[in-house]
Order: sequence, then C-alpha cells, then structure tokens
Amino acid sequence: MKVLFVASECAPFVKTGGLADVIGAVPKTLSELGVSVRVILPAYPALHGITEGGKVVLEIDDLHGGPASLVSVKAEGLDLLLLDAPHLFDRPGNIYLDAGGSDWGDNALRFGALSQVGAKVGLEGIGRWKPDIVHAHDWQAGLIPALLRQAGQDVPASVLTIHNIAFQGLFDAGLCVPLGIDPPMFTPAGAEYFGNLGFLKAGIAFCDRITTVSPTYARELLHPEFGMGLEGILQARRTVLSGILNGIDTDIWNPQTDEALTATYSADLLDGKRKNRAELEKRFDLHADVDGPLFCVVSRLTSQKGLDLLLDALPALVARGGKLAVLGSGDREMESRFIGAAHIYAGSVGVIIGYDEPLSHLMQGGSDAILIPSRFEPCGLTQLYGLRYGTVPVVARTGGLADTVIDANDAAMRAGCATGVQFAPVTAPALEQAIERTCDLYRQPDIWNAMVRRAMSHPVSWEQSARAYLDLYESLSQ
Ligand code: ADP
Repeated sequence: MKVLFVASECAPFVKTGGLADVIGAVPKTLSELGVSVRVILPAYPALHGITEGGKVVLEIDDLHGGPASLVSVKAEGLDLLLLDAPHLFDRPGNIYLDAGGSDWGDNALRFGALSQVGAKVGLEGIGRWKPDIVHAHDWQAGLIPALLRQAGQDVPASVLTIHNIAFQGLFDAGLCVPLGIDPPMFTPAGAEYFGNLGFLKAGIAFCDRITTVSPTYARELLHPEFGMGLEGILQARRTVLSGILNGIDTDIWNPQTDEALTATYSADLLDGKRKNRAELEKRFDLHADVDGPLFCVVSRLTSQKGLDLLLDALPALVARGGKLAVLGSGDREMESRFIGAAHIYAGSVGVIIGYDEPLSHLMQGGSDAILIPSRFEPCGLTQLYGLRYGTVPVVARTGGLADTVIDANDAAMRAGCATGVQFAPVTAPALEQAIERTCDLYRQPDIWNAMVRRAMSHPVSWEQSARAYLDLYESLSQ
C-alpha cells in the first residue's frame, strides 16, 4: 500500500495547530504497519536546512510566477517531498498570514500550487513510486480530489480529512482557470460555493472518502450549527463520511521521560507532579498552596476555544480556591482580558501570552486539571496530553472532547471509569458548575488520585488511529 499525504504543515518543522501533529505522526505509525507513505509539504524557510540535503525529483519551469522543484528528503522519520517554490513559500513569519495578520493575498495560488503538485504526483508518481491513495488534508490540499477526478478513470483513490471546517479556502471563481479546475467541476454540487471557488468544498464533493478527526465531530458537521455552510454537501456525502480520532506521540508526550518537566513521574509515582506544580506556580506568579486545584489552559485564544466563557467563570474558580495558569495567544482583545484578569486575581491567575512548546509540557506536567471549554472541537489534542499526564480534562461535551473524556458522573464513578469532567451546554454557568465539580473531586484525594491514574492509562497513542486509516485505505483499494 502506497499513500501520498499532502498538507500545509507538519510537526516538528512547521506548526500552527493540531493538523501539524497529525501529519508528523500518522505516516510514521502507518509505516510501522507496512504502508509506504510520502508527505508533500511546502518548503517554508523553517525547512530550508532540510531541503538542501535532498534530491530534486521534479522540476517545474513556472508554477504561478516562478520556478519550482520537488525535493525528496528523509527527516524525523518521514519521507518528505518538499515543494520548493521560493516566490510562494519563502516568506518570514506565519505560513498563512502576513505581518499585519491578514491572509497572504496569494494564498489561493500558494495552496492551489500545493494541490496541483499533489495531484501531479498522485497521477504520475515519483520514479517507480506511484501512490494507490492520495490523502489530502484540509482546504490547502482540497483541490486534489477535483483535479484527480477530472483526470479520468485510472487515478488513485482520494481521501480528504477535515481537521477544522472553520477554514474553507474560499476564493474568486476566476482562479479556476489558473488552478486547472475545469468548468464542469465548478457547479453548486461541486467546487462552487455561492459563486466562489471553495477549496474544501471541492475536496468534499469529489473525494472517495471523507474523514474528520472524531466520530462526534463527523455527526456534528451535518448540522448548520457546526457545518459552517458545508452541511448540505456533507449530508449529500454522508455515506462516505466517518470520524477517526487523533492520537498523540506518546514518546514526545511521556511524563516518565519528558525533559521539559522539572520532575518526571508515572502513574505509580505521582510525586513529580507536585514538584512541577511548584515550578509552574513560580513561573506564573501564583501563590504556593495546594488547597485547591491548579487549572491550566494551553490554547489559541479564540472564540472557538470558548475562553471568553472562562473569563466569565473566573470569579467562581477563584472563590472555590482554584488557581489558573494560562498559556496562549491569538485574539488581541482576549489576550488583554486575560492579562487584566491576572492583575485582578493576582496570585490566583497567571497568564503568559505567547507560544512556548516546552512550557506547554510543564503545564501538562504540573497542573491538576486542564480546561477546554471549546464551542466546537474537531478532536483536540490538549485533552489527550492531559489524560497522558494525569491532568484531569475539564471539557465541553463536543467533538473529540466528547469522544475522549469520560465524565465523572455517578454512573461512571460507580463503574470506576471516569477520566475527567464534561459539561453542556457550552455556557459560562455550565462551565462554572464543571469547575466546582472538579474542585469538589480534588478535595477527595482517594477519588481524585484514582481518576488521575485512570486518565493516565487511557489509550491515546496513534496506533488505533493509524489502523483505522489503514482499514479505510484497504476498503478503497479492493
Ligand atoms: P487547534 O489545532 O484547534 O489549535 P488542538 O488542541 O488540536 O487545537 O491543537 C493545539 C496544539 O497546539 C496542541 O499541541 C497544543 O499543545 C499546542 N498549543 C496551543 N497553544 C499553545 C501555546 N501557546 N504554546 C504551546 N503550545 C500550544
């Protein structure tokens, strides 16, 4: 089985969100299952050092305004095909946004080029390597299924994974011509979205299978509240839509070996967690007492993540003796509201604005609970890290959060299977109640520690996910 992944980000090289973690991990686990996977990625500046050591396997004289090449190289256990097109990808800063925080004006051409090269490799292969399946990820690779479909009969099967339907890649219809989308593909049942060219919509319309990153999100997407305008086409294609949960890299996220922690620990020896908590309290200027739980947030600060609800619930959190450490960045107004909260609740609330991978590990290692009040959450990774690190996830009952955390309700407590706290609806009062329930549980050490240990034994590795992808590929190649 040969599979070509096409995506716009990949950990550890370039990451803005959970998509990168998936692309960095699933190909490796699939290789362990005997699948040959290659990953096409743009050669952003962060990848230049790696590109230099590679071999050019394809040259294109003019890819939307400049020459381009595809460079084959192995790095971090991945077989990469890097799309080296300096006029499109050699830019400083965020891979999607300019210095002013707006989308790059030529994003349609940048990621249209990625899709076109992905389709070309899908159809022609590289040397003797020809994929059976092209697996496109998110809108940036969304044109691939359309490009393959219009190429005729003998083409590889295509899978589209939707990591977050909020990002759809909508552009002027005039771009169909330069991006090679034939007129018959541009219909309301195809690539057209109300007169525009929809990259994600094209993928949904023309791929052979659609997956998203949790079973609950797959069901939610069929409703207007979550489908963000694509619920109609998804309903039309619901028989090929399924959810496969993400996992995490359990080598990188391992509390027994994690070098970012002050003290490592295991489910049997939880002492280290207290030392990490003390270190976190220092870093976030929090009072050092352990009467109440230390909650953390590691997140983009956006309305998707429901953190405005947390700001509203802060008085209740502090009144119950809880403390909060927030690491995040994003929406400027939300950033300043959190900074303001750290002043108002000095000693109980600490905030660091920024993106800090090692600190995110320490937060999982030192907090008692992680708060994830998302309005929607395709899968979510931080609750999985929380489970692995015995940091009890307190989550909104939506998407992958609903599928990975077992709420500490009476039935689950009696059955001895609870791993966290869920709440619904996603409102500030419901979040407050969840925080209060968590504080109550924390003050019952036997019950709390049993839940922490159970969380740590919950399976969160990529193995199950990779097997599910393999089953899907096999169903397509029969
Ligand atoms: P999304 O992809 O919607 O942002 P996920 O939970 O799927 O949310 O993935 C977010 C990833 O980014 C996780 O690996 C999380 O630890 C990481 N992350 C988010 N914000 C920060 C931050 N400020 N510093 C370090 N890591 C962060």
